Amino acid sequence: MVVHCASMDRAINLMLGSRHIVALTGAGISTEAGIPDFRGPNGIWHDAALMNLLSGPGFRRDPAGFYSACLGLVGDFLRADPTPAHRFLVKLEEQSKLDAVITQNIDGLHQAAGSRTVYELHGTYRTGHCIRCDAKHDMATFYPEIESRRLSVPLCSRCCGVVKPDIVLFQDLLPVDIWDASYRAAGDCDLMLVLGSSLQVYPAAELPQAALDHGAALVIVNLEGTHYDDRASVVVRSKLGDFARAALARL
Ligand code: NAD
Repeated sequence: MVVHCASMDRAINLMLGSRHIVALTGAGISTEAGIPDFRGPNGIWHDAALMNLLSGPGFRRDPAGFYSACLGLVGDFLRADPTPAHRFLVKLEEQSKLDAVITQNIDGLHQAAGSRTVYELHGTYRTGHCIRCDAKHDMATFYPEIESRRLSVPLCSRCCGVVKPDIVLFQDLLPVDIWDASYRAAGDCDLMLVLGSSLQVYPAAELPQAALDHGAALVIVNLEGTHYDDRASVVVRSKLGDFARAALARL
């Protein structure tokens, strides 16, 4: 079923008239793939012990606790498939309307859907590095071992140091090159499309303002309000799946 509402139609019309769209996506774009968000009603934000472990200091203090606490989330990541909202961004890119997807997500679903230019502001769970010698690792080999509890902490094959996934944890710094590319893309776009983000995590939440400062329009599709709503050209309060299906029908 394709759901329509006036704000959805206005948002889709704005997209159809734009040539340099940049999408800023958050955890809300993956909830329909079965991955919980942070601040929605079932969000992991409510789990204080887990949030504590998801910090840089938390990881260094207790890597086994970190991996054990993340088991459910990693299982969700491993079994998730891209949603219609991920696929609709691929179509926009194929039609040369979209310049980049900037994502706060670490689940890799944009690339799995086929998006080509993706800036992963908070990194990815798919690769990792040794915190002692910095050797790179493909995490895919470790997760099944951790899930089946044969392994509590992945260790570096070169020096036996602890391997950390390449995700930006609380109190970690963002990768500078990805941040610079994202900031440039935000400044160059004619429409920023915010999909499924509470816009409460900084510096990611600076990007809509960078787009507005350069004259871009702002469209927000999110189930809950954000502090950018009164600066947006259109706010669509609907499920992203409904929005994506309506948009795909017109692209
Ligand atoms: P958030 O949890 O703060 O906000 C998600 C927003 O999406 C909420 O406002 C919610 O109402 C909305 N939402 C949820 N499902 C939706 C749907 N089906 N349709 C429309 N809106 C929907 O997420 P955030 O702003 O991305 O910030 C949280 C941080 O959490 C990010 O740094 C991200 O790295 C991390 N995170 C990532 C994942 C992932 O990779 N999938 C999952 C959880 C958290």
